[in-house]
Amino acid sequence: SQVYLNGVFLPLEEARVPVLDRGFLFGDGVYEVIPVYGRKPLALEAHLDRLEHSLAGIRLDNPLVRTAWVSLLERLIQEATTDDQSLYLQVTRGVAPRDHGFPLQVPPTVFAMSKPLTPVPPAWVQAGVAAVTRVDDRWLHCDLKTTALLANVLLRQQALDEGAVECLLLRTGFLTEGAASNVVLVVEGVLCSPPRNHLLLAGITLDLVLHLAVQLGIAHAERPIREEELRSAEEIWITSSTREMVPVTRLDGKPVGTGQPGPIGLRLLSAYQALKSHG
Ligand code: PMP
Repeated sequence: SQVYLNGVFLPLEEARVPVLDRGFLFGDGVYEVIPVYGRKPLALEAHLDRLEHSLAGIRLDNPLVRTAWVSLLERLIQEATTDDQSLYLQVTRGVAPRDHGFPLQVPPTVFAMSKPLTPVPPAWVQAGVAAVTRVDDRWLHCDLKTTALLANVLLRQQALDEGAVECLLLRTGFLTEGAASNVVLVVEGVLCSPPRNHLLLAGITLDLVLHLAVQLGIAHAERPIREEELRSAEEIWITSSTREMVPVTRLDGKPVGTGQPGPIGLRLLSAYQALKSHG
């Protein structure tokens, strides 16, 4: 199917970016991943708002106005082969002779594609998944969704190497997020999540889940979470656009709570399932 590159729709196999692209050389770019259910993007405006935040954070002008983003993504959605999709878009600082300083008058590279959304394995939700913990050794601008993901890649791979699905990150003894997900947990009956600041990405899925919590009358506290609280939590859930809500039932080889997906997260998950299919 067709992808978008710098104003043109063309087959993926034909889409080419020069090796001097700063995305390739420096990871100098930002991106978004937007889930699509039944050919309807979920929380599109929130994703495009976050794109603006990421672009501003790396001092790159938004190359497209909102309506242009919406119409190009709409075309990718309509031309895709499946109803449920994952939209990917990225903007880099363009192609220029290699030099750390920003190039002058260089157009950004704008790329977008759709791929089929891989369903979350039912066993992940039924039994939960294993996660490990690591020290969060990333930089201090984790609120920006940048393509410079080497630290996240290495952390995620350490989880996979141990047969786990996600790596939960601890900075100075406090939980931040997962390598590619946010974390919500239940501590002494209360739904908690770490403060949304420069140490983690403000996840759109997390935001939707927290809105559902309000609707369901589930109390929520956004506050710093100590490592010991993570380790003694009754429930741990990871959230992301492509994996929705997945229960973590083993952390560093030990059971989380009862070792089964917990009731508060399950209520939120079923509300999330309803939201994604009916808007
Ligand atoms: N944190 C990180 C580091 C991520 O890469 C992601 C996205 N996969 C998330 C959180 C979750 O964000 P969202 O719910 O917007 O997908």
